[in-house]
Amino acid sequence: MRPPNYYAAPGFERAGLRRREPEWIRARALDRTSVFVPVWRSQNLVIEVDGGEPRAASLTVEALGDSNVDERFEHGHLVFLGVIEERAHFAFDVSAVEAPLETLQSPALAAAGITAAGVRFADLRQLAGCLERSEGALLALARAMVHWHSRHRFCGVCGAPTRSEEAGHMRRCTDAACKAMHFPRTDPAVIMLVTDGDRALLGRNKNFVPGMYSTLAGFVEPGESLEDAVAREVREETAIEVGTVHYHSSQPWPFPANIMLGFYADAISSEITVDYGELEDARWFERDWLRSHIDGDSFRLPRLDSIARRLIGDWLADRSSP
Ligand SMILES: [Zn+2]
Repeated sequence: MRPPNYYAAPGFERAGLRRREPEWIRARALDRTSVFVPVWRSQNLVIEVDGGEPRAASLTVEALGDSNVDERFEHGHLVFLGVIEERAHFAFDVSAVEAPLETLQSPALAAAGITAAGVRFADLRQLAGCLERSEGALLALARAMVHWHSRHRFCGVCGAPTRSEEAGHMRRCTDAACKAMHFPRTDPAVIMLVTDGDRALLGRNKNFVPGMYSTLAGFVEPGESLEDAVAREVREETAIEVGTVHYHSSQPWPFPANIMLGFYADAISSEITVDYGELEDARWFERDWLRSHIDGDSFRLPRLDSIARRLIGDWLADRSSP
């Protein structure tokens, strides 16, 4: 069985039914054994000891200080994530303060066994999969939930403020006549490796690092099947027509709020016409050439934490093909 893609599976029980037990949630939020995963303006707290690989840094209940826990939940600044080895885990939004490290300094960091040296808030994407997998997934989940709350403070139906309920997994409109419920969103995007026998179609976006080529990708539109979305995106970006589409795997992609649905697609045409509004270049690459040029100086594949790399890597590793 293939292992999950990076950012999936934080290794805990989400304990979804507990979200509707406010007294249990409240008690866990005040419990000294609970774990708080801070998020500051879309960045996560990491620690690097003596120049080693970064690790996720979490806090204990001291980090909440003397603030009102009920208010923290109501604003969506605390979100129950799940349970690992009987320890409740919460996302903890500290975006309101200008200098979170100073604010969180001892005793919160000290209580969590963290010394100030080597601790910083970092963009999860910039860590590029350096974190151990379950930590990467935990930070991705915390970041995603905090982002959703920050973008849904007002009701999309009537414009009144919303309030977080169910331990941070729902926001309800505060207008008595509306009371609309809003749930955390994750927007689907398709990402596909188009192949034609022993060659694969890769493109580059002008925002990519120099030399990088990747799979094509795009958002699923309303009223569209995933297969249709794959075919449409490939046609729009390269004018290539695809026939059979096979599902591969999926990846949570909280940058900011997507799930990437990975596919292989068989090309049934071969002449590329690049849409330069979307791409800077797209071309066919032979499998053998790719195998010998992975992460070279002038050509490189997408980063190891991405499903794009997984799709390409699995195809290159398929020794049943010549
Ligand atoms: Zn409303």
